[in-house]
Amino acid sequence: MIGEVKVKFDLLKAGHCTHPECMAMRGGRRQAVEFPALVGLIEHPSLGCMLYDTGYSRHFMEATRSFPECLYRMATPPVLPPEEELLVQLEQRNIRADEIGTILISHFHGDHVAGLRDFPNAAFVATKEEYREMIGKGRLARLRSAFLRDLLPGDFDDRVRYVEDMVRIDPGLPGFPEGYDLFDDGSLVGVPLPGHVRSQLGVRLVDHLGQRVFLIGDACWKIEGLAGRRMPSRLAGLLFADSRSYAETFGKLADLHVRDAGLKIIPSHCRTTWERDGNSKHVRHG
Ligand SMILES: [Zn+2]
Repeated sequence: MIGEVKVKFDLLKAGHCTHPECMAMRGGRRQAVEFPALVGLIEHPSLGCMLYDTGYSRHFMEATRSFPECLYRMATPPVLPPEEELLVQLEQRNIRADEIGTILISHFHGDHVAGLRDFPNAAFVATKEEYREMIGKGRLARLRSAFLRDLLPGDFDDRVRYVEDMVRIDPGLPGFPEGYDLFDDGSLVGVPLPGHVRSQLGVRLVDHLGQRVFLIGDACWKIEGLAGRRMPSRLAGLLFADSRSYAETFGKLADLHVRDAGLKIIPSHCRTTWERDGNSKHVRHG
C-alpha cells in the first residue's frame, strides 16, 4: 500500500541563515557557511498541493523585531531575498496561496513555520506532543526553544490534525518501525524523529518518478555528516531537546543512508542536497 499513490515532489528554498560549518558537523570548517531553509512542495493526485514546512518569511522578521525575540534573529541572522519568498515561488508555478490545502509541520522552530499565516485554507499536520510542549511554555522559555508564537495563525487549533490520532503504519524504513498514514492512502507517511525537539515529524513519500524520499527536518543538518557519521558539535547539541535521542535518531538515519542507497534522504538545511535536488521546474498534473 505504501507508495502506491505517488505524488509530485519539488524542493524549494525560502531563505537561509549562516553558521560555522563545524557547529553543524564535527570536523567541519570554522568559517560560516549557508544553511538553506528548504521547503517540500508536494502535489497529491487527488488532494492537491501541500507543503512540508515553510522556511523563512517576512513574518519571521516582524516577529523578531522587539526584545527579547530579536535575540533569535541575532543568533541565526536570516537572509530572505524577495524572489525566495515562498508565495513568490508558488506564484511562478501558478499555485495560489489559497490552493495549498495542507502544511505538514516538521516542528515549530521559527525557520520552519514562519510562512504558516500566508496560507488561509491550509490544514496543518503536526505532532500533538510537540505542539503541546511549545504552546505550554512562557515567553522566555518559548524563545529559548526557538518558538515564536506570533508565527502561528490565530485559528491554528481549529485547523490542526495531530499525527498521534492517525492510523499507524509501518513506514518500510529499517530502524524506523513507527509511522502514521497521514492521508489514509499510504502516499505520505509521518515518521517520528525525536531528539532535535521532543517530537519531530519526518515524512516518507514516493514521487511520480518512483523515487523514494525521506524528509527528515533537522534530525541531521548536512547529508555529508550522515554519510561520515559526523554529528553536530557538542555546543550545538546543547540546544537539542534530548541529545541522547538525537544521537539515537542520527545513528539510525546513518545506518539507513548506508543500507538503502536508493532512498533520497533530505535534511531541511543541507546545502549539498539543495544544490543536487533543489528547484527543478514543478509541472502541474494536467
Ligand atoms: Zn531548522
